[in-house]
Amino acid sequence: QDFLQIQEMFHLNKFLTNFLLPGHDKGSCLSRYESAVYRKPSSHKPSPYLLSKLRKYESLHKLCGPYTESYNKTLEQLKSGRNVISTTDCNYLVYTPLSGLGNRMLTIASAFLYALLTNRVLLVEFGSEIAGLFCEPFQQTTWLLPMDFPLRNQFDNFSQVYPRTYGNMLKSGIMNTSMMSPPPPFLYIYLAYNIDRYDGLFYCDQNQDQLRKVPWLVMKSNQYFVPSLFLLPSFKQELSKLFPDEETVFHHLGRYLFQPSNEAWGLITRFYRAYLSKADERIGIQVRVFDTKVTPFQTVVDQILSCTIKEKLLPDVLETRGSAASLSKNQSLKAVLVTSLYSEYYEHIKGVYWTKPTVSGEVIGVYQPSHEEHELYGNNMHSMKAWTEIYLLSMSNALITSSWSTFGYVAQSLGGLKPWILYRPLNGTAPDPPCVRAMSMEPCFHFPPSHGCKAEVNVDHVKHCEDVEWGLKLV
Ligand code: GDP
Repeated sequence: QDFLQIQEMFHLNKFLTNFLLPGHDKGSCLSRYESAVYRKPSSHKPSPYLLSKLRKYESLHKLCGPYTESYNKTLEQLKSGRNVISTTDCNYLVYTPLSGLGNRMLTIASAFLYALLTNRVLLVEFGSEIAGLFCEPFQQTTWLLPMDFPLRNQFDNFSQVYPRTYGNMLKSGIMNTSMMSPPPPFLYIYLAYNIDRYDGLFYCDQNQDQLRKVPWLVMKSNQYFVPSLFLLPSFKQELSKLFPDEETVFHHLGRYLFQPSNEAWGLITRFYRAYLSKADERIGIQVRVFDTKVTPFQTVVDQILSCTIKEKLLPDVLETRGSAASLSKNQSLKAVLVTSLYSEYYEHIKGVYWTKPTVSGEVIGVYQPSHEEHELYGNNMHSMKAWTEIYLLSMSNALITSSWSTFGYVAQSLGGLKPWILYRPLNGTAPDPPCVRAMSMEPCFHFPPSHGCKAEVNVDHVKHCEDVEWGLKLV
């Protein structure tokens, strides 16, 4: 869009968002007010029930958030280490970080949904690498876990083998679901990619009954575990009221929780306005190569181009190094946003559309914001760039993503897009067909529990993923 038009929309939008969100301090989170100018409103409306649930959650968070009277009271109990005799209105779920940004965002959204379903307050520990990427989602309080939280010094020991995980306590018989004794003040819940059958009992109703009485749950996970919550009989009814359209869970919760901070918003909007806003159409290509040795460059690039051309996302080129395209031909401009840790894919695609004319006459601009070469942990600017690129991808009109990548899942779901997923090349050869259209915009739960519970509901909307055969996703 033309920038003047954007400004005009911005004023209109400012009025609307002021009306919708009283009590927000505008300057501290510009993206909350300006994002509607940059991307069209979602065609998926949240259910009125979800909105009222969120308003209730916000009040609970304000009542129980860090350093409130209720928070201080439950901390006393936690520090005493004694089993819980009397319950309070404030129960908590603490998220602790694991894996890259995409994994973290998916897990935080899953944890938030679990908190909504179980009336807990979610507190998050981001670690230094993702500090400052997002605005505070809840007003007049914070979702950041305080630095002086008493269990912090145990977080480093918290792994699957830690004796105080719920799974290990079930395994050793210290806890069982028929036990009537008062619940402990806190429990660790381990739900990462390698859960065993005891950790996996978290996904059973009987165990949920037991966990309900524990005031503090500290969670470590890197999974989008929402699909398994839909299989629990006790959550089913509430979930269908919250999300009558099952494939919109991360779309709504992600947009609600993850608003870019002012610094991230600066990176996003400067790139967008400089390279993408003038295009008639924006195509995002997310290239995630997990192992460059088993996935040769040429195979991947051939696969990308065969997908984009076959699916008519980008035009083919004339094989001759022809002259300038005639002005009478299609004059539209397509912008391609490539994201990858490496620059070769972008260089190659840019070269194709620069050196040869397209059959349609369209002009194709190709851009890549960064190529970081390696996945870095503990580096804040690295995560800031990753967040910027995820957000820019989500502003595309069509998206091509890589199999298995949570980075791509976040982009597709925030954007409300059903991507074309590039199949993983096997033994270095390009798969045929090169890509498949996703059934829904939802992320895939890569490692669901493999042992079922006694009671599990059958949900038509939970299917195996396109890219991970044993994974589960909502459709
Ligand atoms: P996944 O490993 O693909 O599921 O995605 P994650 O986001 O969980 O972890 C990968 C991490 O590598 C990201 O968080 C980034 O730090 C980095 N990364 C991977 N791909 C890209 C990319 O295209 N651009 C940038 N800037 N960083 C990337």
